[in-house]
Amino acid sequence: MLMKNVGSAMLNCVHNLSSYVTNFKIIPKPVAMHLEITYRCNLKCVFCDRWKVGPEIHAKELKWSELKKLLFQAKRLNIKLLAFSGGEPLLRKETINLANLARKLGILTFLNTNGTLIDENNVKIITKSFDQVIISIDSTNPQLHDFFRGVKGTFEKALKAIKLLVKNSKRKSQVAVQTVFSNKNYQEFLYMQEFFKKLGVPLFAQPIHNISSSLYIANNGFKINNKEYIEIKKIVKAFLSNSTFCDPYVNIAYKTIYKRYFKKFPEFLKNPNNLNNHFICFAGSFSFLVDPIGDVYPCDGLRIPQGNIREKSLIKIWREMTNIRRKISSIERSCNCWLLCIIPFSMILSIPFTPFLYIKRRKTNKNKIGTLQIQK
Ligand code: SF4
Ligand code: SF4
Repeated sequence: MLMKNVGSAMLNCVHNLSSYVTNFKIIPKPVAMHLEITYRCNLKCVFCDRWKVGPEIHAKELKWSELKKLLFQAKRLNIKLLAFSGGEPLLRKETINLANLARKLGILTFLNTNGTLIDENNVKIITKSFDQVIISIDSTNPQLHDFFRGVKGTFEKALKAIKLLVKNSKRKSQVAVQTVFSNKNYQEFLYMQEFFKKLGVPLFAQPIHNISSSLYIANNGFKINNKEYIEIKKIVKAFLSNSTFCDPYVNIAYKTIYKRYFKKFPEFLKNPNNLNNHFICFAGSFSFLVDPIGDVYPCDGLRIPQGNIREKSLIKIWREMTNIRRKISSIERSCNCWLLCIIPFSMILSIPFTPFLYIKRRKTNKNKIGTLQIQK
């Protein structure tokens, strides 16, 4: 199923390029749906406020019948991948049930989890239900990881989950680790790479974000200085040259999709606005996001609701997203992020437009044109 879906995802991408060149008169075909199935969480991470709002909106979360309806509509839109996030998705039993249903429909399933709810009792069903399980680990130093995650003992539980998942996995790299990369943990990034490589687990990372509408918080303590900027540049370079992994598919992914993305970590952490016109963002074309109460957004970073699936079908919402797509794909968009779920793919899809981006960048620098505000 993996190779078949990768092939048809590439066809969707080709279609989406033609959609972009027609200024979205051709409706794009999404590759991925990101589903925030709950904001409830058993952790209290220092860079996230979702665990605080989760209990307030618990009663309004999409019910099983609504989740099923959403999935069938997403299938009609031709999605190839369903990624669960939250909150902690494993707090809802519907997560596994929906993943199983998605797999029956031929959709690949990804689970983003803090790993603390995975144990001997559920590991088999989890490896059966998800094509990839991505565990959040921010440090191999238990105290530091637990500090980031706000609850003592989190590191031990997450590491145990990784070992159990690897033991029960159906194929190489079914388990991956994702790190929130910041000035507080970059110094051990290379050590982490080796640590997880020995366990047979690839390491991915996303820089820390400060997007209040998405409930991501990075206060001033996470700002990097010039010395850190230079050090991070060196570390990322070494990380990429050490990235050879036991799974050839991961190697290809590192060398193609993720290389450009990682390389810009120092820039993003220092001055994210500088990266706006380096690529075309395909959020809202390549993928979209549904939150726990059914609001549909182009991505995790730009919280402008496009409709609610309780009021309108997902298919209708998707067809009506032309205006937001045009604004997002303008290289003068005002939002910026470095989210792992969309930016590496947008960078790849932007390659055919590199000369145009280069010229535009030169012009922008020369004339100091201000940025356009994205409005609903
Ligand atoms: S970052 Fe994830 S694990 Fe941490 S509190 Fe937020 S939702 Fe929970
Ligand atoms: S740059 Fe793209 S993915 Fe990031 S917030 Fe803006 S629209 Fe979303």
